[in-house]
Amino acid sequence: MISQFVNVILPVPVTGTFTYVLPETMGGSVTVGSRVIVPFGRRKFYTGVVSGFVPAVPAEFTIKEVTHVLDERPVVRHPQLRFWEWISDYYLCTVGEVYKAAVPSGLKIESETMFESNPDFDASDIDSLTEREAVVYALLSGKGKMNARDIEGQTGFRNVPALMQRMFNKGAAVVSESLVSRYRPKREQFVRLTIDRDDASALPEAFAKVRNAPKQEQMLMALVQLSNFTVRERQLADVPLAKLIERTALTTAILKALVDKGLAERYTKETSRFARVGNDVAPLPELTDPQKAALRDVHGRFADKPVVLLHGVTSSGKTEVYMHLIDHVLRSGMQVLCLVPEIALTTQLTRRLQRVFGDSLVIYHSRFTDNERVEIWHRLLNTSKPCVVLGARSSVFLPFAKLGLVIVDEEHDQSYKQFDPAPRYNARDAAMVLASMHGAKTLLGSATPAVETYYKALSGKYGLVTLSRRYGDAPLPKIEVTDLARESKARQMRGSFALSTVSAIRQEVAQGRQAIVFHPRRGFAPMARCTMCQYIPKCRYCDVTLTYHKHSGALVCHYCGANYPLPETCPVCKEPTIEVVGYGTERIEDEVEEIFPEARTLRMDLDTTRNKNSYESIITSFSEHKADILVGTQMVSKGLDFSDVSIVAVANADSLIHYPDFRSAERAFNMLEQVSGRAGRGDAPGRVVIQTRSPEHPVIGRVRDHDYLGFYESEIDERHSYAYPPFTRLIYIYLKHKDERELDNIAMIYADRLRQLFGTRVNGPVTPGVGRIQLYYIRHIMLKVELNASMRRVKEILKDLQASMHSSIPAMRNLVIQYDVDPY
Ligand code: ADP
Ligand code: ZN
Repeated sequence: MISQFVNVILPVPVTGTFTYVLPETMGGSVTVGSRVIVPFGRRKFYTGVVSGFVPAVPAEFTIKEVTHVLDERPVVRHPQLRFWEWISDYYLCTVGEVYKAAVPSGLKIESETMFESNPDFDASDIDSLTEREAVVYALLSGKGKMNARDIEGQTGFRNVPALMQRMFNKGAAVVSESLVSRYRPKREQFVRLTIDRDDASALPEAFAKVRNAPKQEQMLMALVQLSNFTVRERQLADVPLAKLIERTALTTAILKALVDKGLAERYTKETSRFARVGNDVAPLPELTDPQKAALRDVHGRFADKPVVLLHGVTSSGKTEVYMHLIDHVLRSGMQVLCLVPEIALTTQLTRRLQRVFGDSLVIYHSRFTDNERVEIWHRLLNTSKPCVVLGARSSVFLPFAKLGLVIVDEEHDQSYKQFDPAPRYNARDAAMVLASMHGAKTLLGSATPAVETYYKALSGKYGLVTLSRRYGDAPLPKIEVTDLARESKARQMRGSFALSTVSAIRQEVAQGRQAIVFHPRRGFAPMARCTMCQYIPKCRYCDVTLTYHKHSGALVCHYCGANYPLPETCPVCKEPTIEVVGYGTERIEDEVEEIFPEARTLRMDLDTTRNKNSYESIITSFSEHKADILVGTQMVSKGLDFSDVSIVAVANADSLIHYPDFRSAERAFNMLEQVSGRAGRGDAPGRVVIQTRSPEHPVIGRVRDHDYLGFYESEIDERHSYAYPPFTRLIYIYLKHKDERELDNIAMIYADRLRQLFGTRVNGPVTPGVGRIQLYYIRHIMLKVELNASMRRVKEILKDLQASMHSSIPAMRNLVIQYDVDPY
């Protein structure tokens, strides 16, 4: 028999796939998309995905063997592999990096280094070990194989790997690799009645057995009810032990008595981590006339365009239109992917969609544990039932069988773009490619479409459908702009709020309505400073001022997370004159509590949503009106739907409008228009106050007039004049190195060579706003690529350049190059 060779994708940042040979015993058991375990490097094993078969391999290569085949049926489905390749090609990363991001770790068995004592170690040499090594030696001799984490756990020693290295050198320990799978199915305990349902006398006899034991009788009764024993037309249900205990408030000792009497049985079984909601679903919402027209138009445009933009003002009922489209596709037996930019939004949309789609709704986002993600993969792999996946960015990687429609809600949102680590993809754009690979359509929805998207819609590349009225003909909120400079000069301020803002909020809250206070920064104060010498504490690893967090009492670097105590005296001038400067959401919340003692407040930002369910509990409390004022960062600005919110206050818009970036105007307009859109979604008209020191800024004027088109027209002119997207494509190149001089040197050479190839379309190198992160100095080069140039060619040139510099400049070895294609 001829050997079979396979190409395997591995989760490593090395370009290309790797070829292995299948031992004869495994021949025929592997298909493209199967997982295999293969050796890689000196000692490691990885789970890889077979990407294809290779006819023959020249004999001079030594090819390693596949160690295990994990699946006979593919885990990665057609066209997923093609999609991975597209991402790696387009966003300039390796397929391995895409695989790493795409597949939950529970499906990627990896090897782990294990240690055991060396049986050949001569006991008389024990004196050569240090005291700590001797402890570990004794532990391993007793326990056999252990990994570093367990050794650390048992001994309390730190840095065990280094210690093991020394023991290995002394011949006291041996090292091996063993395969570990991280996925653990959830097992739950159940109870089942062992009474014959077809024997009419069995139940009375069972109760006779517990007649003199009231607690047992009570539990038996509960079990009969919970398992539908007497409901003939229903199946006998498995009763979760926890449910039985909760229902009866009795102990497992009582259950044991029932088991001993032969009336019940206790057992364990694998269950889902996700609660079923059942299929008792509500009908689709009735659409209003404008919504009906929009739905009809969307269907119409899909006839000849693969992508349609639904431009609907905030609260126009885009979600209702989505629901009708989803329903349509599910009925035709296909799947739907509905992307949202924030987990906060999945929380709210989950309820709205679950009501209508029941168990056909699948949720997926980064807060899920790895085990939960594996279950969702299994669910999608094992059924081809129509379902709708509601998820954040990474759900584009799920193994869809047959997509009929992709919806990208709030398509303009920058959180669709992943920045770190690679793949640096934009989930909106990737989703459109994925849809076309499935032959499916894409609907983009937004009240403030991205400039590029709107341009494509106007130029006919995408279909365009507009919804210009709010649901119930509610007016768009009225926007007042408050000049902070003027108010503070006139001493009309209280803390960071103008007195007029205070009385506006107070008025609404007094009438039983709710308020949202938006501020773009988290933490208490974005900076500490010595009032005597102006010294400002910075991060030791990054070129960043430190944000003071009052709750933890620490200065925190928002780039690397490093924590520092707030110094009591200035380390430079030794005076006790360090104070914190400026405002973050934590401080705004403090102020709000002080100014409105009668109101109940909640805060939603990165710091209050670190726990798995914290989004949900904040959003639920606020929608149930258990608080009056919600303070938050951009998390509160996007897509949320609270019907009692009648006022939104933007505490300070200045950092949004003064941001050194070609997209800053767009970002500021979107953010302000979106956050305004949270007001007046119910019966009361909405009101918005924007506080700023730049009331004359053009973006502020456009937001005040809800003038998206005006904003778009002036923005597209700028983009044209300065050759920015959509008139060019951008690639940002980041060069990172720990040695600043080497870095500057390399960056100059690199940019020069780029200029020889691309001429004036190269900008830089420049030091970005944050010039050092986690000990790496950073230089930034911007490459503008003409629309008609071949991106493929450009990327080949970049790869070649990197390779040729690598071979000619020694310091390149320690250089990190990152490409960001279509940066946001
Ligand atoms: P958008 O997504 O455009 O901001 P939503 O879909 O969230 O708007 O709709 C705003 C509010 O109006 C929601 O509370 C929604 O339930 C309500 N609404 C919109 N359309 C309808 C409809 N056809 N029937 C009932 N309620 C609707
Ligand atoms: Zn830092």
